[in-house]
Amino acid sequence: MNRILTCIGCPMGCQIEVTLDENGNFVDSKGWSCNIGKRYAQEEVTAPVRTVTALVNVTDRSEPLSVKTAHPIPKGKIFDSLAEIKQVKVQAPVHIGDVIVENLCGTGISLVATKNIA
Ligand code: SF4
Repeated sequence: MNRILTCIGCPMGCQIEVTLDENGNFVDSKGWSCNIGKRYAQEEVTAPVRTVTALVNVTDRSEPLSVKTAHPIPKGKIFDSLAEIKQVKVQAPVHIGDVIVENLCGTGISLVATKNIA
């Protein structure tokens, strides 16, 4: 069984063909142009992950704070993570890289600020 993926590692969007065995386990891949794509192909069919970006409210400010997960989280945790992020309200000042939520949705990954708010 084969799966065709589009690599999300860079704008080139290489088409990667992944070969799976009869149990759906990764066997091999081809079509990637670098090791990022090679790693992405294996992860995507075994334990897919994504970096989540979002906006959170800032107390007494109309402008929201942009945030992202410090590392990719399991794809299956994205909706629950967004629900958790929706409940968050931060107090200025905030600096790029500040941890806004530790252990987001039990993933062990932090949610961090991606802009400064004075
Ligand atoms: S395989 Fe490498 S070059 Fe191709 S899209 Fe992925 S990251 Fe970009």
